[in-house]
Amino acid sequence: MTTHVSMLTATDARSHIHLIVGSNPLAAARCGQSLSAGASPILLVPETAELHYALQKRIDDGEVKWIKEAFRDEHLFTLGREEIDHVVDAVFVTSGPREPLSAHISTVCKRNRIPVNVVDAPQLCTFSLLSTHVDGPLQIGITTNGRGCKLASRIRREVAASLPPNLGSAFLRLGDVRRRIQEEDHLLHMALADGDDVDDSVDQLASFNKLVTEADIDAAKNRRMRWLGQICEYWPLKRLAAITDADVSNILQSYSDLSSSPSPPSSLNSATNNNSNNTPSPPPKRGRIILAGSGPGHPDLLTRATHKAIRAADLVLADKLVPAGVLDLVPRRTPVRIARKFPGNADAAQAELHEMAVQAAREGKTVLRLKQGDPYVYGRGGEEVEFFRGHGFGLAGDRNLGAEGGGEGSVVVLPGVTSALSAPLFAGIPSTQRDVADQVLICTGTGKKGKAPVPPEYVRSRTVVFLMALHRVGGLVAELTGYMDSEIRDETGENREKEVGEAKKRVLWPRNTPCAVIERASCPDQRVIRTTLDRVVEAVEQEGSRPPGLLVVGAACEFLNKLDKGQAWRVEEGFRGLDFVGDGLDLGE
Ligand code: SAH
Repeated sequence: MTTHVSMLTATDARSHIHLIVGSNPLAAARCGQSLSAGASPILLVPETAELHYALQKRIDDGEVKWIKEAFRDEHLFTLGREEIDHVVDAVFVTSGPREPLSAHISTVCKRNRIPVNVVDAPQLCTFSLLSTHVDGPLQIGITTNGRGCKLASRIRREVAASLPPNLGSAFLRLGDVRRRIQEEDHLLHMALADGDDVDDSVDQLASFNKLVTEADIDAAKNRRMRWLGQICEYWPLKRLAAITDADVSNILQSYSDLSSSPSPPSSLNSATNNNSNNTPSPPPKRGRIILAGSGPGHPDLLTRATHKAIRAADLVLADKLVPAGVLDLVPRRTPVRIARKFPGNADAAQAELHEMAVQAAREGKTVLRLKQGDPYVYGRGGEEVEFFRGHGFGLAGDRNLGAEGGGEGSVVVLPGVTSALSAPLFAGIPSTQRDVADQVLICTGTGKKGKAPVPPEYVRSRTVVFLMALHRVGGLVAELTGYMDSEIRDETGENREKEVGEAKKRVLWPRNTPCAVIERASCPDQRVIRTTLDRVVEAVEQEGSRPPGLLVVGAACEFLNKLDKGQAWRVEEGFRGLDFVGDGLDLGE
């Protein structure tokens, strides 16, 4: 069964004239809705009508104009604004479907393209009103397209209740950041000449493929905007709702500081020393740094060890991608810092957190460095351990304690469920499968300094998982299915494709190889796009992107889920992989 859906739009109704026909409580409600959208309602009802008291009050207060006449067609064409030849902007009929007048008004309006709404009569309406939640500039509207308005308002309440209060004010602040970024665009060119570590967790629009082309000057211009996008995408909503003017300055500041060497932000002290005044001087307690993976997204995919570390930590230093549901598990009293990482400053953001970790651990604290997924899978975990070791914090049994030796404390590394293997699983893709795939390769789609890494060769029984790749899926697919310029040209730029011996050539991936794009695996808005290499670029362009996401390529992709014959791609929405937990199987603590 296919259901009809409406086209949802938001109308700027300021100064519009709304004609409201009726005198019941609903007419009063419509007047209220019209007024709150900045329109001018005109009530059209004969003097003999008994007015609802709320309506009477609005009339007495001068908010609503009352024309004491019975409806005539000409009202539609004479009561409106002068600039649109006096045609009214919209008509609300509140007397219901059985009233013959309702059908008549609807017909005349439809014929003259005047938007009309008749209560309880979908067939007479050209538009309907949504059940809305309003918080500052944020409006959320729900419609069930005529099926169950009671349920719609319940859903509205539940959606609203799930949002932190004051989210609306965050929009005002972020709107301000956006405006200031636009104004300060020229600074960006100077500050962000260099660009490494582009990952696909940037804010990507449907046109994102064009956004990150290597060495593209325009890309630099977009970076601050993209970082803003990342904040919107990754900061927990609660944190966003509490965004302050100081945060806004920090955001902008961190951009201007980019070219200089990173220094810990001033708020460092408040995060790590917040009870320094009443703590007696250094206890001989040894600090501890725990580097832990937080899994792909769903908090139930945390290991018990990481969960315990979250409970035990004195300070949590989280990467940007660490899922909000995981951060929610951090006790209220524990300070949390989230890396200010965005394309171009990954190193600075890392260094900042490293310094904070060492400083706090030297005070004898337990510091939890939370990474997304697994810390050693494209998580820079190794570099962190190396750094901590250089500052006297060694792995258990470590003989390599560096310059500051003597062992100031220890580092513990805890694994996490990596997205590289769990995302395919949640998409119904067995990474290895007897007789289909006997090897799995985990790759990055983005190389150092924006250069494409050498693409993996085709092996029929190989499953390849590409992380940080979707922002350049077009380039990646071209490299998998064809040769790169550097492979077929000699130093003089001459095309030597024909001369390169067949044996030396990299084996290319057939264009009909099955593949899947898996985004936000294990999150409620998980999305899987199943397709083939020759259609994946088109599919991603059309469906847009929902970072973070990865690409899986290989025959295993279609072992459990085949496309229908002739189907170019299929989109699957939502995550049900842990539903059983809600079915009473929760084993508790
Ligand atoms: N250490 C992480 C990977 C960090 S690199 C891990 O083990 O999972 C970041 C990349 O991981 C993203 O660009 C994306 O390709 C992938 N990724 C992370 N979380 C994901 C998720 N929930 N769904 C799909 N891909 C994800």
